[in-house]
Amino acid sequence: MIAERIRTLHEELPAGVELVAVSKFHPVDALMQAYDAGQRRFGESRVQELIEKIPQMPADVKWHFIGHLQTNKVRHLVGKCEMIESVDSDKLLELIDRESERAGVVSRVLMQVHVAKEETKFGFLPEELLSWFKDKKFEALKATHICGVMGMASNTDDMNRVGSDFAEIRRVFDEILAIPDLNLRGFDTVSMGMSGDWPLAVEHGSNLVRVGTYIFGPREY
Ligand SMILES: *Cc1c(COP(=O)(O)O)cnc(C)c1O
Repeated sequence: MIAERIRTLHEELPAGVELVAVSKFHPVDALMQAYDAGQRRFGESRVQELIEKIPQMPADVKWHFIGHLQTNKVRHLVGKCEMIESVDSDKLLELIDRESERAGVVSRVLMQVHVAKEETKFGFLPEELLSWFKDKKFEALKATHICGVMGMASNTDDMNRVGSDFAEIRRVFDEILAIPDLNLRGFDTVSMGMSGDWPLAVEHGSNLVRVGTYIFGPREY
């Protein structure tokens, strides 16, 4: 079943759109079924769970961290994953940078944009993130590579609202790219879309989707 879902997604996703299989709360044997079907990118949202899974999976897995990252967990995470998708504050970014430099690694990150209606979601407001880039705050980073943005749509059945949230995330990305003299090399990733809404996200310019439930079934928290 898992293998079939992976194959279906790989068929349906347009060229240039990458799939992160969100495996949080699922056991390693489920991840291995996806791996054996050709999946290499996996997404986890808790540092402890990720660290436990890494040695149990083949070495060529590319781990994406997608959850809210607490500052006291940063040092355990740097150097362990392909990408930290959920940078939601200046303070967190500075810490990732400091710990990455200390560990002698370069961390690849996405800046999380908050557009959803829910108050509990993390991230920079669109205008806040735009000014952050206009002020060239990233130039102070020594061991962190900002690769793009990540965002989530409102948790609603109203697909118009979901679509406009995705359009807003993409607009922020395009406006950052359009800032003159920015010199942001390799800023090319727009991570949006989950099980219920990834086709809409792709329509609005996502090139990295994070799909969990559709592949692995419901999570038992
Ligand atoms: C859990 C999670 C997903 C996957 O959601 P599904 O609805 O299970 O596909 C995607 N992105 C983030 C940030 C998540 O926390």
